[in-house]
Amino acid sequence: MISALAIPAAMRIGLIEFVSIEIPRKERFTIARGSSDVAENVFVAVHAGDLVGQGCAAPTDVTGETRVSVLDVLPAFVRALDGHELRKPGELADKLDKIVPGNPSAKAAIDMAVYDLAAQEAGVPLFRFLGGTRDRMATDMTIGIMPTAPAVERARRWVKDGFRSLKVKVGADPRSDLERLRAIRAAVGPRVELRVDGNQGYAWGQALSFARAAKDLDIAIFEQPVPRTDYEGMRTLAESSPIPVMADEMVLTPDDAKRVRWSNCARAVNLKLMKHGGLTRTSDVDTICASAGYPTMVGCMGEPQLSIAAGLHFALASKNVRWLDLDSWLNLASDPSTGLGFEKGELIAPSKPGLGIDVHWAAFG
Ligand SMILES: [Mg+2]
Repeated sequence: MISALAIPAAMRIGLIEFVSIEIPRKERFTIARGSSDVAENVFVAVHAGDLVGQGCAAPTDVTGETRVSVLDVLPAFVRALDGHELRKPGELADKLDKIVPGNPSAKAAIDMAVYDLAAQEAGVPLFRFLGGTRDRMATDMTIGIMPTAPAVERARRWVKDGFRSLKVKVGADPRSDLERLRAIRAAVGPRVELRVDGNQGYAWGQALSFARAAKDLDIAIFEQPVPRTDYEGMRTLAESSPIPVMADEMVLTPDDAKRVRWSNCARAVNLKLMKHGGLTRTSDVDTICASAGYPTMVGCMGEPQLSIAAGLHFALASKNVRWLDLDSWLNLASDPSTGLGFEKGELIAPSKPGLGIDVHWAAFG
């Protein structure tokens, strides 16, 4: 059921609609912390005159949110949109933070919808509105934790489909993780970039042994091998791991990024609109990372094409973003949003003004 909140007519933004949905995944997705068969999302539409800006929240345990918490907090954000100037989407994040702390995926939904409106009003695709020039970028494809044989089968399939980089989930059992990684490297050859993601599953000693054992496999990145609170472990790995370590779950706010820098506990950072609260805050975190000399990746939660497009537009406009991990939509059995370009492992931003994504609201019933 779609909920709607009317805003008095004098304001520029007239109505917000939102709907909560559960999208089945094509196949079970398993990482170190657990398995999931569905993606949980809240779609948002923000109306201003004839324009409609659209956004999506993907709440997870990483940000301490659920679909219920998103639905609970969205009405409070109406106040921030009161009198908001469409041309200044960058001013919204501070207003949202003043209303309530945290809740970044709910904020991301509103923030990207307002950026969608601003770019539509300007008549350009969002990446151009943000100053970007390129319109496409290669993403990796993720292989969840599973036995070696099906993992190898998937690796072969994705490379055949055109992906030039694969992300392999690890962090469950170092021995079987290593065996799976070796088999994937042997199957895809030396030219495919491999990344691994521990999702906080290892103790630092395990992570260091794993990285040393995988040294000859030419792994580009080792994402969040240890728990988000283990700064000492991350620092040791940043200094001693032969694979560069990337912080993910430990970086939600700009202050988190500063803490990572001061503690010297990463070599790169994974940005996600859902962790930081939309494009403005993601840009704030990215700027801190750039000044610290950390290249960034733009990653995702279980997200449909709508918010994946927002992540892509952001990435296209930032010179500090080196990698993309925007593949979750490829594992959704039915996506109510369409329009994202995709060709041989490359995501292509729509050429229409704004995010350029169509959301089929009728599908929500
Ligand atoms: Mg990660």
